[in-house]
Amino acid sequence: MKKLYTAGDIIEAQLLNSLLKVQGISSLIKNEGLQSGVGELPFVEMWPEVWIMEQKDWFSATCVLETFKPLDTLEDWMCARCSLTNPGTFETCWSCRAHRIVDQDIEGGCL
Ligand SMILES: [Zn+2]
Repeated sequence: MKKLYTAGDIIEAQLLNSLLKVQGISSLIKNEGLQSGVGELPFVEMWPEVWIMEQKDWFSATCVLETFKPLDTLEDWMCARCSLTNPGTFETCWSCRAHRIVDQDIEGGCL
């Protein structure tokens, strides 16, 4: 088993988990039940985690994760045309309106 992702909340973990299931990947959510039991547990242990059960599914799982990116965790990106930095939620450059170019070639690496 291998940890794929630490989610910000249980909803996010369940969404990713369901996406993995659709792809036929065996996964489970850890810390699912801890959200309501806030108390003595250290905060850092409260995050739900999505784990992949089988090694053979790992690559497919990382591909699913690539397509699953909550808006609030998108990183800033640099415009390829004018080199200005844009917020991760922007699909086009705020300055020159050029379209965002994603570094990773998802279509080439993932089926
Ligand atoms: Zn630009």
